[in-house]
Amino acid sequence: QAKNDGKGAYHFFEAALDEEARRRRKLEVDLRSAIREGQFEVYFQPLYSVAEQQIKGFEALLRWNHPVQGMVSPADFIPLAEDSGLIVPIGEWVLRETCRIAATWPNSMMVAVNVSPKQFASPGLKQTVIQALSASGLPAERLELEITESIFIGNVKRTLETLHSLRALGIRIALDDFGTGYSSLSYLRSFPFDKLKIDQSFVRGLETEASGFAIIRAIITLAHALGIEALAEGVEELTQLDVLQREGCDLVQGYLVNRPVPAAAVHELIQRFGVEIQGQRFAGSVA
Ligand code: C2E
Ligand code: MG
Ligand code: MG
Ligand code: MG
Repeated sequence: QAKNDGKGAYHFFEAALDEEARRRRKLEVDLRSAIREGQFEVYFQPLYSVAEQQIKGFEALLRWNHPVQGMVSPADFIPLAEDSGLIVPIGEWVLRETCRIAATWPNSMMVAVNVSPKQFASPGLKQTVIQALSASGLPAERLELEITESIFIGNVKRTLETLHSLRALGIRIALDDFGTGYSSLSYLRSFPFDKLKIDQSFVRGLETEASGFAIIRAIITLAHALGIEALAEGVEELTQLDVLQREGCDLVQGYLVNRPVPAAAVHELIQRFGVEIQGQRFAGSVA
């Protein structure tokens, strides 16, 4: 009896796996035509200066409006794009589109674009950045690339060469999801990043968990000792902002300030933060 039950559960599990594999394969096929079909859209989430109490720029976050499945999360399709190599043309599109849009913003606004490990290792990245900047007229100083520690898996020497050659263009480089990868502080010695983005997992329970607080404090201290900025991701509560402000965190990003918005809503957000006073400005989201 028990044996049969086990087998049944096994077959059920296997079928579920098949189903998941089929769904992924179908998504990957659809991903191939998504650029051509105009199904991608770049959303923007504000990066907010705690001390200056204003928006300093935006992070570009890709959205896929699938004709049948609706909005597919980047958490679902970016890994697929990465595995299939489609991330390279998709990433090129994101860079061009983001620079084009950011060039229409006030001069003080910077924009950050995520670059995945495979895209980072692709030979055309630097040329893509150069073209996106020149086609849009966006000054290089206003563009930041966000990379994760995983770009250091493999050829560290080549990774450092790429980082330096990108930096030579005048753009900035941020280290995303800091603290979650297989963090090695030696990377901070070998390359002068412009910003550390503290992963949102450390912001969760910031007020209640001593360990999260200790890690946040340590990363902020580390960033400042290196002469670079610290940004906390995933800030949802005013109480979290209070702690981060006390700890001297330079920038925050999260639903508290605003969710990611379509390009058309960016100007309204900039305006709102330019005129409202602290407290009121976190009252509601621009959609
Ligand atoms: P990320 O670069 O760490 O981006 C931050 C993620 O946190 C975004 O998820 C954002 O919507 C979400 N977020 C922001 N504030 C909050 C908050 O207060 N609470 C919570 N729970 N979440 C918050 P999203 O847009 O789903 O993107 C997920 C990941 O997908 C990104 O993480 C990034 O690694 C990747 N991604 C997104 N767009 C691109 C892209 O154009 N290219 C590449 N290569 N990766 C991308
Ligand atoms: Mg990012
Ligand atoms: Mg992040
Ligand atoms: Mg993340």
